[in-house]
Parts: sequence; structure tokens; C-alpha cells
Amino acid sequence: MKRVAIFGSTGSIGDSTLNVIRENPNLFKAVTLVAGKNVEKLIKQIEEFKPQNVYIISKENADRISAIFKDINVYYGDTGMEEISQLVDFDISVSALVGIAGLKPTYNMIKNGKTVALANKEVLVAGGELIMRTAKENNATLLTVDSEHSAIMQCLRGEETNKIDKILLTASGGPFFDKEINDSITVEQALNHPTWSMGAKVTIDSSTMMNKGFEIIEAKWLFDVDPSQIEVVVHRKSIVHSMVQYKDGTIMASLGPTAMQIPIAYALNYPTRLEKNQIQKINLFDIHDLTFEKPDLNKFKCLRLAYEAIRKGHSYQVVLNAANEVLVDAFLNKKIKYTDIPNGIEKIMNMYEKRKLNSVDDILAFDEEVKKKTYEECVAKI
Ligand code: NDP
Repeated sequence: MKRVAIFGSTGSIGDSTLNVIRENPNLFKAVTLVAGKNVEKLIKQIEEFKPQNVYIISKENADRISAIFKDINVYYGDTGMEEISQLVDFDISVSALVGIAGLKPTYNMIKNGKTVALANKEVLVAGGELIMRTAKENNATLLTVDSEHSAIMQCLRGEETNKIDKILLTASGGPFFDKEINDSITVEQALNHPTWSMGAKVTIDSSTMMNKGFEIIEAKWLFDVDPSQIEVVVHRKSIVHSMVQYKDGTIMASLGPTAMQIPIAYALNYPTRLEKNQIQKINLFDIHDLTFEKPDLNKFKCLRLAYEAIRKGHSYQVVLNAANEVLVDAFLNKKIKYTDIPNGIEKIMNMYEKRKLNSVDDILAFDEEVKKKTYEECVAKI
């Protein structure tokens, strides 16, 4: 029986992870649940899964949970997050907080030599070198539950990485691939993803294709390849989840339904596959054709800015991530227009020089500084 910690249990990845656990009670047990604000949902999860440790941001909600469930450990606030992420009584953790909030807890688990299944790609965007080095130094195992990276991981199994020609990272293209991008785009339109059902921030990131930029950085760190070896391929149906092209000309592809339960189950049960999964399988005869197109970097400015940040180095990737986090949040709260997201990121990236960031604390302090500047320059002034 694997003991599972879920950082972000009340989110979309959290739901899918708990579905896998619910369907496989003999294989997995949820021992730690970490949530942000959704106390009602967390209470339901505690009733059903009976974890030993839970976290929620506010003291008020933590007190409420402690009053109902007297025999579990309840953590809250910054100190509580530090404490719960230092616990070692689990076999695998699913890191699925959203944004930079996941960096320190993931770093703590890696530092303690644990196995982490990473959904929260912003962790590698902001701290890739540090996370990979810390994992190596402490014998920690980093798996991925991002569908594209899970596909790549599966295409690489048993292969030699020096035989890789390139990684073909697929992208759905989001809701605006065939449409004009302009200021009239509403929050509702941007949240209407054609193939995946996900949390709000990653759905907006998918619509701007910033998500794909983040995934290039994620793939670089996870698979130790040069970014020039990673090619983005727009594949509208999201049936092929990514591919690896080898030097001998062979392309290995991983196909499957658009259901996060599959990569999550693969990571939870790694290195073996689950024998069954309740997900509806795909029927290739219903699909007919698979198409592949190049992304337009003039139209999807966020993807172009991500390439620029990759070329310029680590601190620019921290700026990219921090500015994006503020601007996506402002867009979701209807404070700025859709095109203010890429334009704001570009403006902020142009305001910074290269910096050396040596530790988690350095990265978090810089992230904070960039967020403040982004808010002042691109949200408050509007
Ligand atoms: P959601 O917004 O649905 O969920 C985020 C989770 O994190 C919620 O449980 C939320 O709690 C919790 N949370 C957020 N901030 C904090 C905080 N400061 N302290 C404690 N808990 C916090 O996001 P997703 O599940 O969609 O995505 C999570 C991560 O996984 C993202 O990085 C995303 O890019 C990545 N990802 C997601 C995919 C998907 O299919 N959804 C696919 C691949 C990657 P609450 O809701 O209670 O406030």
C-alpha cells in the first residue's frame, strides 16, 4: 500500500488523484491533504479519505477542521506549510499547488529524499536547476504527472537519452488557435478549453500558450535535453500526448484519452502500470485523422516570450512566471484585458537585467519583487 500526500487536494489534479485512490483502495492511501481556501471540499475529503495530516491556509478554517476531526494533525499559515512539507511519513507526494506557492514545499520534500510526482510546472520554471540538483544530492525521485511529460517519460523508457534527436511536445492550441486574438476576449471564452478540463490558471495559460512555454522549460529539466531539441507541435485533438524522435528516424508516440487520471495513475503506481482504470478508452476508428501544425509565435506572444526567457537565462524565467501569475490573476478578476497579459509580461521582462539566484529564498524574494512591480506597472496603473 503506497501512502500518498496530495499538495492541492481540492484542485483539479487533486480531484483526479483522489479518483485514482478511490478506485484502488488496496494500492493507495491518502495520508496528507493540502488545500488553500476550499474548506467545505476539504472537510468532505477528510470524511471520505481519513488522512492523518491536513493543511489549510487560514487559522479560522484550521480551527473549524480541528473541532470536527479531533484525531488528525491540522496545519495552517506559512509555518504550517513549512511543517507539513517537512513530514516524511508518505511514499509519494503529488505536487499540485498552483504557481510559485509550490516551490518551497516541493523543494522540502525533494531535500528529504522523497518521491514527488510533479504537476506544478511552475516549480521547474522558477527553480529547475536547484530542484534537479537537490534531487540528485538527496536521492529523491522526481516523476511527472503533466500529460505531455508523462508521455515523453513513457516514450523514453528503456531508451538511451543520447539517441534522442528531438522531443515533439504537443499542444492543443487552446480555444484561440483558429480565431483572432484581441481585447474583446472574455474570461469565459478563455476558460473554455477545447480538450482539457483543468484549474483556472493553467486553462488561461493554455489559451495564451504560456503553458507550452513553461512545458519546454519543464521538459528541459526533467529529461536533460537542450531546449533547441524540443519542438512544439500543435495537435488539436490532444490524442497524441507527445513524441520522441530518435536519431535513427524512429518516432515513439504516446496516445490516450484526455484524462489526467491516466498520467497520475502511471506516476502513483510507477514503475508498473495499473491493471485497470475506469477511464473510457479511445477508439481509433472514431478519430479518423491526426493533424500536426506549427504554432504562430507572432500570434501567441507568450510562447515567444517564453523562448526569449529560455534564451536569456534563469532569472528571466522567474520574471516570466511571476509577471504571468499576477497578470493572469488580474485578467481572471476582470481588472485587465486579455492582451494585457502578453503585453505586460513583455514590458516587465524588458525592465530587468540578468540576476544570479542561488537559493529558494533568493528565488522567492525575486518573485515577490517582480510581482509587486508587475502589479504597480500593469494592473494598478490601468
Ligand atoms: P487548481 O487551481 O484546480 O488547484 C490548485 C490547488 O492548489 C487547490 O487545491 C488549491 O486550494 C491549492 N492551493 C493554491 N494555492 C495554495 C496555497 N497558497 N496554499 C495551499 N494550497 C493552495 O489547479 P490545477 O489542479 O489545475 O493545477 C495544479 C498545478 O498542476 C498547476 O501548476 C498546473 O499548471 C498543473 N497542471 C494541471 C493540469 C490539470 O489538468 N489541471 C495538467 C498538468 C499540469 P483551494 O482550491 O482549496 O484554494
